Amino acid sequence: MFAKEDLLGLKDVVDWPYLLSSLEFQKINIQTRRCCCLIHNGTNPTSFSWVDNYFYCFSCLKSGDAFELVQIIKGFNFIESVKYLSDLFGYRIRKVSNYQKKVKTEEWEIPEYIINRINRQNFAAIQIKEEISKIETARENLTNVLISMRKNEEKYSGLESSIESRLNDLDSDLRILTYYLHHYEKN
Ligand SMILES: [Zn+2]
Repeated sequence: MFAKEDLLGLKDVVDWPYLLSSLEFQKINIQTRRCCCLIHNGTNPTSFSWVDNYFYCFSCLKSGDAFELVQIIKGFNFIESVKYLSDLFGYRIRKVSNYQKKVKTEEWEIPEYIINRINRQNFAAIQIKEEISKIETARENLTNVLISMRKNEEKYSGLESSIESRLNDLDSDLRILTYYLHHYEKN
């Protein structure tokens, strides 16, 4: 059993771009905090995102913290993921003795699990809402462009159909995100 403060401290020192590159994630963009998702082996450079201590993939919809990401990518258990992160960031984790373990397990292990789950769901819901509003804005802008193109009756056929297909893509993203938002808000 690890000391709880140390686990939280380790989470705080996680440098996501460094962690992601050590796990061999590709096309890491530090500005937009996006990259390709190695969980579902995707090639879209904006699928995977991270904020604070959490990640979220807009394609495979996986989310979690750094420990969970290491477990997924490396196939590790929780203890191995702690060891991996503490080695990677040179952060020392103290072990709690057996006697303390008995006391501490009841104190925090169950609440920690529940808190993590709630945090994950709240985080996912916030991310999804942000994404929905971005898509809605993009949709509105493209629709306006399309309307003004049609008014002018000029020959934009190629451009027009590419805008139409982009609008279709946005609609399908919107449907999926709305579905997941309901899912998270229900829980
Ligand atoms: Zn993914």
